[in-house]
Formats: sequence, C-alpha cells, structure tokens
Amino acid sequence: MLDDRLLLGPGPSNPYPEATEALTRPVLGHLDPAYLALVGEISDRLRAVFRTANELTLPVSGTGSSGMEACLASLLEPGDTIVVGVNGYFGERLVQVAMRLGAEIVRVEAPWGTPLDPGDLLAAQRAHPHAVLLAVVAAETSVGVRNDVAALGTELASTDTLLLVDAVTALGGTPLEVDAWGVDACYSASQKCLGAPPGLAPVTFGERAVARMRARSTPVSSFYLDMGLLQQYYQASPPVYHHTASSVLAASLHAGLGRLLDEGLEATWVRHERVGKALQNGLTDLGFGMVADEKARLPQLTATTLPSGKEEAPLRRRLLDGYGIEVGGGLGEFAGKAWRIGLMGHNATDRSVATVLGAIRDVLG
Ligand code: PLP
Repeated sequence: MLDDRLLLGPGPSNPYPEATEALTRPVLGHLDPAYLALVGEISDRLRAVFRTANELTLPVSGTGSSGMEACLASLLEPGDTIVVGVNGYFGERLVQVAMRLGAEIVRVEAPWGTPLDPGDLLAAQRAHPHAVLLAVVAAETSVGVRNDVAALGTELASTDTLLLVDAVTALGGTPLEVDAWGVDACYSASQKCLGAPPGLAPVTFGERAVARMRARSTPVSSFYLDMGLLQQYYQASPPVYHHTASSVLAASLHAGLGRLLDEGLEATWVRHERVGKALQNGLTDLGFGMVADEKARLPQLTATTLPSGKEEAPLRRRLLDGYGIEVGGGLGEFAGKAWRIGLMGHNATDRSVATVLGAIRDVLG
C-alpha cells in the first residue's frame, strides 16, 4: 500500500515534484564523471543558497546530524574549547556531539522559546579567548525560534574563535548570509526548506575553517565525516575514492535546488514569511498560543500550544489518520503541550495553510 502524507511537521517536508521525479534517474557509480559533475553543480547551487564563495561546499552523505558531526569532528580536537548557545533541543545536541569528541564545553543558555543574546555569546568567547569554535543554531526547530547570528561573525573575525552555524531549518527558509555575516562553517539538511528528501547534508567551510582543519595535530576521529577526505573525493583531480555516495539523492537535491533558485532565494524567503504569518494568525484565531515571541518567531516552523483542555497526542493522531497530515509534537519542556507545524520548501504554500487549518478546525470539533 502506498500512502502519501502532507508533511507539515518539523521535517521532512514533501519534496518539490522535480526532486521526487529525479529519484527515478538511473543509479550512477560514485566515481562516474557524470556523478562528479552533478556534485560540482550541486556545490555551485549550494554556494548560491548559502550566499558564499567558499570552495569547500559539498553535500555530505547523511542527514542534518551528519553535517553537524562533520563540522564538529573536522574542526575540534580533544581538549579544545567550544562555546555553544543552547535554547532548545538542537543546541543541546551540539553540546552532546562536542562532548563525545572530548571538547570542553562552555554553555550559553537562554530559556527554551527565547532567543539567545548575541552579547552573552560574545562575552563567553571573551572569557574563553582560546575557544576554537562558537556554535549557534540559526533556526531552533524545537521551539520555532530565530537566533541572531548576523551579529556574531564580524566580532569573531579578529579572534581565534571560528563561528559555526546550524542552518538545518534556516537554509532556504529565512535569510542566511554565510560570507556577509562572517560564518566560518555551516551545515544544513536536504529535507526541509531545500525541498528534497532526507539523506544529504550541505556543508560549507570558509578559509579559516579549512586552515584550522589543516593545522590539526590529531586525525579527525570520524573517517566517514572527515571534511578533508571528502574534499579529496569530490574536489581533487583525480577524485580519491572515499565512500559509495548516492547519485540518486544527489540528483534529487540538484533538482530541488534548481527549483528553489528558479524561484529566487529572496522570493522563497518572502513566501515562507507570508505563509508562516498566515498560519500563525489562523492558529491564534482557533485559540492556540505561540511558544516564541513574535520578534524571534520563525515562519517556517511554528511551535504552538494547544487551546486549554485539548490533549495534543490524540488530536495529532487524528490529523494523521483522518487527513493524512503530519504535524510534530513538542520537545523537552513542551512535550505533551505543543505542536510544531512546518511550512517548508514545497509545502510553504497557501494550500498547506488552508488545508491544515481546516483539518485542525475539524478535529477540535
Ligand atoms: N539541527 C536542527 C536545527 C534540526 O532541526 C535538526 C533536525 O530536525 C537537526 C539538526 C538534525 O538533523 P537530522 O534529523 O536531519 O539528522
């Protein structure tokens, strides 16, 4: 049985039709010149979406977490210090991964649902000037909050601390400027606002990140996620075999990015902003509350508390069983109290807003 879903959770979202169609392309070998040329074009498209000229810009095999691990494993050595902003589940995951790599963690916290204060992050860096990285999640999917990363890079440029940004939910949905904001390393995922299925993690490293990687005194602890080895695979001539990368996922991401760039990156930001607002207004009219303050609220992911007296899990199940609509449950302190509704990529449309609001109205009864 083939069931399709309207995927309005925190990701995956439904891929663009072009990205779904590309999944039927013939499988290519991982060293086939046609596959390597395809990856070259994906890198060009990713540079346009990340707004960077970084040469080391690649789709890493794996989901967003592999992008996170590729960045942390390639840039940190055991005993290094990292400053991490934590105001939700994915900031916490950065801490967990960095800890496993033997790093010393300096946590900078804000309550879940509230944005991080860039001043607090920079003060923590000043207190730990030897920190190798300062890492922040640009769009915290667990609470629907936008963290201000634009302010950080220029301040860090004159220090030895590199800026690492998680753009898993941000990229393609809300403004992100890798070069203009002085972001040294950034990772994302194929399955959210880029409009492709899960399985690839776009990563970009600027010059300072590449230099940091080259200056390591220990090998990267992960062979699979070593950005230096991936660079030799995809960007050296001749390419150095590394792993059996999926040409099918590459074709799909290539197509999703093509669709996004045909529309125009700024036009997709405007589209996400418009439909996000429409959803949030509609939810408010139905008695839902907003987890994030309006100033820091993301349009592509709305974390919303249910009207009083309504139990979230059974209603969410009715949306899935009765309407084929997936929305996400709350995480952490919002587990059991909130939903997370995504309008990402192909799903950031008036059709999704009207459909999900209509279905919610029905299940509320
Ligand atoms: N970072 C953020 C902000 C995310 O939203 C997610 C997933 O939702 C991840 C990292 C991890 O990505 P994945 O689940 O694709 O491994």
